[in-house]
Amino acid sequence: MSAQTKGEKVFRGIAVSSGVCRGKILVLHRARHIVARRDLAEPEIAAETKRFEQVLVKTGQQIKEIQRRVVTNMSATEGDIFEAHLLMLEDRVLIEEVIRFILEHKTNADYAFHTVAERYVAALEQVDDEYLRERAADMRDLTGRVLDNLLEVKDAFHLSHLTEPCILVSHDLSPSTTAQLDKKFVLGFATDIGGKTSHTAIMARSLDIPAVVGLQNVAEELENGDYALLDGYNGTIIVNPTDQTLFEYGQLEKNKASLDEKLREILSQPAITLDGKPIRLSANIEDQHDVASVIAHGAEGVGLFRTEFLFINHESPPDEAAQYKAYREVAVALKPHHVIIRTLDLGGDKFVSNLQLAQEMNPFLGWRAIRFCLAQPQLFCAQLRAILRASAEGNVKMMYPMISGLDELNQANALVEKCKAELRIEKIPFDENLEVGVMIEIPSAALIADALAKRAKFFSIGSNDLIQYTLAADRTNEKVSHLYEPTHPAIIRLIKATIDAAHANGIWAGVCGEIAGDPVLVPLLIGLGVDELSAAPPVIPEVKYMIRRVKMSEAQALAEFALKCESPSEIYAHCLEVAKQTAPSLFESKV
Ligand code: PEP
Ligand code: MG
Repeated sequence: MSAQTKGEKVFRGIAVSSGVCRGKILVLHRARHIVARRDLAEPEIAAETKRFEQVLVKTGQQIKEIQRRVVTNMSATEGDIFEAHLLMLEDRVLIEEVIRFILEHKTNADYAFHTVAERYVAALEQVDDEYLRERAADMRDLTGRVLDNLLEVKDAFHLSHLTEPCILVSHDLSPSTTAQLDKKFVLGFATDIGGKTSHTAIMARSLDIPAVVGLQNVAEELENGDYALLDGYNGTIIVNPTDQTLFEYGQLEKNKASLDEKLREILSQPAITLDGKPIRLSANIEDQHDVASVIAHGAEGVGLFRTEFLFINHESPPDEAAQYKAYREVAVALKPHHVIIRTLDLGGDKFVSNLQLAQEMNPFLGWRAIRFCLAQPQLFCAQLRAILRASAEGNVKMMYPMISGLDELNQANALVEKCKAELRIEKIPFDENLEVGVMIEIPSAALIADALAKRAKFFSIGSNDLIQYTLAADRTNEKVSHLYEPTHPAIIRLIKATIDAAHANGIWAGVCGEIAGDPVLVPLLIGLGVDELSAAPPVIPEVKYMIRRVKMSEAQALAEFALKCESPSEIYAHCLEVAKQTAPSLFESKV
């Protein structure tokens, strides 16, 4: 029975992309492939294996085309999903297994591929690791595409045929389908399965489409044409909302519209506290295409350029010239504001197909970032030279990720000096005074911040990693997310010690981890003495709004409380209270 004949019904799931939308439901049911077994005569077998290989090539070309479109329209991160699809598609173990199946069972390629791929999907779905389980969705996505080509069927979704706005509801939404969503017609989406770290969720945030996942069996319960309201802040979809519900959400939308207006008004205003202390508000970017967003959201410059994303979507690592071009473009566009280029931070959860990083038992504790770069001086020096060259054209600074002690800093600096000497001989200009900073994201670095501060021009606190390493809680694992607490007293003390060591040695300290973009935590960070906050461009206006409404005296009182308090939840509660009192408008548009 349609939900239309019933009263209001609320489905609860996981909020993955904020915003509220309302409209008619469109339920997507991907047509199941009918894969029949067909026995082959001996002479047909060779042609069938050839057909299979040709379909793989065709599928690869289609994926690359979608990837190209996604990278152009969204960002390198989203395009990365298709890199995973291509890797699965080129997996020789899988391909050989399918060919063996065709040869041994003398059967058609569609049946062989379907059988083998289903085994892979089933195995991935059994794994006790959320990230890998979510890769089963990638595998299904890819399998569907290969089968479409083997069976010569068209994409059953026909999303390109949408003519009126709707809320998409589906059991699952593959990343490649999500990439094709047209914001004009897709107001939001809801799925039965999925988690916060799934690629589909990442894409929804990037597209700025409200989305809720993990709604269990919503695709079964809802029907085309049902009227619903989707709340991406709280993770609900409300079917047949009552007048009262619509009124409440209408109020929220008004609040959000008036907040947006307030945020627009301060776009070009400085990030300065109510009592006059300027806080540099910079943006985190992943490639040169993000510059427009930095400017549009009113950031002052770039506090973190995650250069590894230049490596992730390319067939081979970008050489010195390609990197120079990207760095220069950003530096010139944002001049006179600074652009802090972080040297490569590969490893951990950032995988790159073209640099054969071996699988590790504990990748976050392994061959990552500066450790990897110091062991690959050729690769590292190409980047250092590119950064140095770009420094001649704008206000470029450079920082090293994952410094754990003085030796790494000294070794990296020695390579910089070597590169500078080469450039001098080659008469290639660079900024002789290029400032080099250190990311503080390993507890050991925070504890020797005084020694590091004597050898660096600035600190940038990478709270994402500092929290995971201090609290031994994997930042990508939902099962330990309750332990991943930014307001844990240990974190607050480490941040304070880092900032104090910086100031005692005459250098500045910023924060570029996600906490810098959380308005609830901004007063605390300012109170702890931070000089720069760097966050994703879309959250910059809210952070600026908070900075402009807080007084240093209030922020310092909050920091003093946090430094004495022993309970993470009490500290957080106090931060929330202060944030709500300081900037109530930021909270009025969220339920
Ligand atoms: C951090 O660790 O806080 C940080 C900014 O770096 P990343 O998130 O790229 O590891
Ligand atoms: Mg980090």
